[in-house]
Amino acid sequence: MDIAIINTWLITFEGKGLGIIQNGGIGVENEKISFVGKMEDFNSYKKADLIIEGNNTHVTMPGLINGHTHSALTLCRGTANDLPEIEYIPKGLGIFASHLKAEDIILGTKLAVLEGLKTGTTTFTEYGIGLLDIVKKVFLPFKARVVATEMISELNFNEEKKPNELYTFYKYLGTNAFKRAIRLYKEFKNNDLISVMYGPNALDMVSMEMIKNVKNQAAVDGTKIHMHIAQGGRERVQITKRYGKNMTAIKLLKKNGLLDPRLIAAHIHDTTEAEREQLVKKGVKMVGCPSSISKIDGMIPPLASYIKLGGNAALGTDEAPGTGHHNLFNEIKMASILSKVAFKDPTAMPPWESMKLATISGANVLGLGTEIGSLSVGKNADIITINLHHAHLTPIIHKPFINLIANLVYSSKGNEVDNVIIAGKPIIIHGKFREIDEDLIVNKANKRAQDLFENISEDWEKAGSKMVSYHKQGYI
Ligand SMILES: [Zn+2]
Repeated sequence: MDIAIINTWLITFEGKGLGIIQNGGIGVENEKISFVGKMEDFNSYKKADLIIEGNNTHVTMPGLINGHTHSALTLCRGTANDLPEIEYIPKGLGIFASHLKAEDIILGTKLAVLEGLKTGTTTFTEYGIGLLDIVKKVFLPFKARVVATEMISELNFNEEKKPNELYTFYKYLGTNAFKRAIRLYKEFKNNDLISVMYGPNALDMVSMEMIKNVKNQAAVDGTKIHMHIAQGGRERVQITKRYGKNMTAIKLLKKNGLLDPRLIAAHIHDTTEAEREQLVKKGVKMVGCPSSISKIDGMIPPLASYIKLGGNAALGTDEAPGTGHHNLFNEIKMASILSKVAFKDPTAMPPWESMKLATISGANVLGLGTEIGSLSVGKNADIITINLHHAHLTPIIHKPFINLIANLVYSSKGNEVDNVIIAGKPIIIHGKFREIDEDLIVNKANKRAQDLFENISEDWEKAGSKMVSYHKQGYI
């Protein structure tokens, strides 16, 4: 046995409820889980190369699954806050993001993955441009599991766009991105730690012809399609201008035969209940990013509605400038709390539902449900432990019922995670990275962002966003 975690609470996400086991143990051998159960049945742990003692003050659970993230933008954290949605990109984030060079994208991704790992994420669904390089320079050396999605877009992001004018599609941009996506798939199709999806960005950013090409390729390669869908005002204006007055994102996808179980729909906050019902019926999966959508759009992703309709959903952190973080414990909490607000119902999205979004349900959305997302013998050993010995997680009671899940969802901050194992490899042990130099990355990121943004004051002030007025008033 390679690793044994002993004397721990287990949340297995298998069987009844969340499959909680008190005073349990878990064994890891050859990248897989080799034992899960009560300590009284786990004598073989003594032969393990590495034994992690839980002292029954720890909980052990599957590593968290981030279903949608753009880590590349993490060097722009904190640059676009409290802005009207219409200003967010052109007058806020876009001004900073346009200065990022290839090496800044690598550094930003490292920062995001570092934060994710520290707060218990073991699978990152990364959506961006130039994923081949990013996977080779960040995810492979960090030994993190990634679902890599090359963004396929036909927009020239450097071209100024007026919200009420139809965007121009440039076919060659889409073709080049599609080629990069196919190359990414071919490079990693046999890699256990890396999966690839195809990512036509959104209905207002890529032509229907290209989306259909992508769909055909996904069917040949047996991959999923990951797309931003029904994101609100900007997209709706473009869809009606291009495809007709009464057209919506869901109607358009349906008309073109694009609603099927291969499709993962990110966001979908601009949908009706009837449209969501159609998505669920067709087996479309959903990813919701509660912090990002509430903070950028002032809306709540319809996660609770999707689950209620019988759909499958995952959670994502989206991008740090929007969300503020890549900490899934925060998203789990936000999913529960915001759903209660959306439904005006304190029983909406109970903590066990939001926990499932970031574990077994998230794994099912990504098509990885037989490999990760729960603690079960034979599954990949993606495991985290959480130290419960903190004032804010105390007390843990088990009579008359177990308050563990509620405390983890409503009270944890993510920094209680103290061991992280991915595919049987110890990444963080007793709170310390085994191979990654955390300080070096944090120091480098601070210095680089300060240098990078030092000379953009004039452009930023000229853009005249609401943030400029906050700055003039001395708030930021
Ligand atoms: Zn996104």
